[in-house]
Amino acid sequence: MNTIKFSDGYSLKTETHNVEIYDSQYIEVNGKSRLVDSHCSIMIYPSLYCNAKCAFCINHFDENIKSCKEIEDDNLYFLKLREALKLLKHLKPTVHICGGEPTISHRILSIMGIVKEFGLLNRSFPTNGTGLLKRYEGKLLLQHMLENGLTNNINLSRSSHIDKNNQKLMGICFTNKDIETVATFCNVNHMSFRISCVLHKFGIDSLEDLISFHEYYRKLNIKSTIFREMVKVPKVNRKEKFVDIEPIMNQLDSDSRFEKIRTMQGEYYLVNVYRYKESIVKCYREKFKDDRELIRDFVFMPDGEVYIARNNKPNERLLGDINE
Ligand code: SF4
Repeated sequence: MNTIKFSDGYSLKTETHNVEIYDSQYIEVNGKSRLVDSHCSIMIYPSLYCNAKCAFCINHFDENIKSCKEIEDDNLYFLKLREALKLLKHLKPTVHICGGEPTISHRILSIMGIVKEFGLLNRSFPTNGTGLLKRYEGKLLLQHMLENGLTNNINLSRSSHIDKNNQKLMGICFTNKDIETVATFCNVNHMSFRISCVLHKFGIDSLEDLISFHEYYRKLNIKSTIFREMVKVPKVNRKEKFVDIEPIMNQLDSDSRFEKIRTMQGEYYLVNVYRYKESIVKCYREKFKDDRELIRDFVFMPDGEVYIARNNKPNERLLGDINE
């Protein structure tokens, strides 16, 4: 997905891998030889339920997600998750716990425990924030995350840096005051926390908007903000909401506030790197359509099925599936 990322130029990098150092090889996956990216990941869905109502949410459009029948029995869900991780463990995938809204799933603590038990590194934790400051078994969810090693890239979604606009666009009330509390906890405990924004016509849709959004959160001591395009869904026309990020990226080259530093050639992304005040800005452009043989991501769906992901969506169910 094409992305613009602002991060702190003076602290250690937060990526779990370097885009310029990559490799892929044929590896056996469930009895079949498949070409797998050395930086592959698994997205774990505790549930598809989310309390927010973002108009751009892929879960409302994708057929594999819409037709998913969630396992109700927790024990069966955890059994299937363990089987999936056992199947993929030799690939050392990094983990995204996503959804739905993961912080309000009653399965969240157990899932974190299972990921830790398998020794897998978390890559990102996308959330709308709702449950981060809730107490589970007497402790803040953030504290559980810290204790279980979920400290990388806690990505909090916002559609606007203005509370009332965000509430209107996402349908939830997680305020900037709450975000400040989360940021303080993360900064004190060296957890990487960033604000993530999907561009769309009724929210953030221009370079000036991006800058205002980034500057606002920098003042709250949040040093990383990330902006993405809406995921494209075949046969679904979302033109009235869609914002093309490419012209915004191109603007950086002629804007004197941005100084171009270098270009990085990744396997999957071409990354232009700029300096903006005290931040580093990276523009990630996809080099290919994500329809090649190479597997970058797997998905564990809440019905216990394991898929290969394409374009951040479950796409191909693993053949000879573990559930059969
Ligand atoms: S917060 Fe995320 S999962 Fe929830 S509706 Fe918005 S985009 Fe979808």
